[in-house]
Amino acid sequence: MSCPRIEIDLRKIRHNTRTIVARLKGRGIRVSAVTKAVCGNPAIARAMLVGGAAGLAEARLSNATRLRAAGITCPITLIRTPMLSQVGDVVSVCETSYNTELSVIAALAAAALRQNTVHGIILMVEMGDRREGIMPRDVGNMAQRVVGMPGVALKGIGANFACLSGIAPTEAKMRALSVLANDVEGRCGPFIETVSGGNSANLPWAFEGRATGRINDLRLGEAMLLGVDPITGEQIRGLYQDAFTLVAEVIETDANSARFADPKLARLRLVPDTSETKRLLLAIGHQDTDAAGLSMAPGNTFIGATSDHLVLDTKDASLRVGSEMKLQMNYSALMRAMAAPDIQTNLRYDRAPPNARDVDGSSKHLASV
Ligand SMILES: *Cc1c(COP(=O)(O)O)cnc(C)c1O
Repeated sequence: MSCPRIEIDLRKIRHNTRTIVARLKGRGIRVSAVTKAVCGNPAIARAMLVGGAAGLAEARLSNATRLRAAGITCPITLIRTPMLSQVGDVVSVCETSYNTELSVIAALAAAALRQNTVHGIILMVEMGDRREGIMPRDVGNMAQRVVGMPGVALKGIGANFACLSGIAPTEAKMRALSVLANDVEGRCGPFIETVSGGNSANLPWAFEGRATGRINDLRLGEAMLLGVDPITGEQIRGLYQDAFTLVAEVIETDANSARFADPKLARLRLVPDTSETKRLLLAIGHQDTDAAGLSMAPGNTFIGATSDHLVLDTKDASLRVGSEMKLQMNYSALMRAMAAPDIQTNLRYDRAPPNARDVDGSSKHLASV
């Protein structure tokens, strides 16, 4: 098997999704599965759909197009405001998009009319993250404009938290979003099917047990893929944290290199030099992943990384040139590794699919995922 590679356990992703979907169902909230961190990988998307996600959500049109090319027909929502230059393809690939700019919505409407279809619009409201969104006081006006525009249909409103600012959504913010949904309906009529509360950072709020108001959707990626709360980094109870494993190959080991004979260099070592440890060089670096977001088995210490190398100290005497080493990734490391051209992905299923070569590209094996 080639190195470096990412081993992906689809059964664990399906389990994580199922667990979250079940817990949110009781709260009246459905899950839109976000595939951007895995570059719209169709097999992972299918595992999340089999796990009960109501639809898919993507930030990039290129990834959404990859999902469609693999035969996925479920609703796909573009969660990054469309580029004006892409509106035609947005309308043909995605049923719905999140929007903040009237000029873009008008262009989507024109494209939809040309394609003889209607494109769904969810208005993204700024509620404190300071990344994207319409100011709450302007949402009513904007909603009315959308409702009056042929070619588009107002589907809902949404908010996003903890991406740019790192500020977690509060109970009060969630209540304010519900009030806003009611206000918009009061003005425009019953168009607000979807009230999307945010991303994985909203799960503590959603699991808390208090009233969820009008919020009936969350857009979740990290929690299902990595089983952690994005703000605290803490494990979410009942979820797997190891659905993804990065495997890299050792290309050099040196137990007592002359490199450290120079005391000045020796001082630069970040860990005490004991005779039990040896230094390892792995063939993976900043160009492949976020090296600071990798973690490894006890007994190994991260020393540093360059564009193409990862330097470790290890107590594992069995590691030699040609050995493979397993690393766990945080969200940032995963996102970059999945996009790296030199890293292959290796999908694992709980049982062998009927025709392994077929699995990535067709939906007939859905049941085996
Ligand atoms: C990335 C993103 C999400 C998903 O975030 P996770 O932390 O992976 O759950 C949801 N909504 C928007 C708008 C995003 O950009």
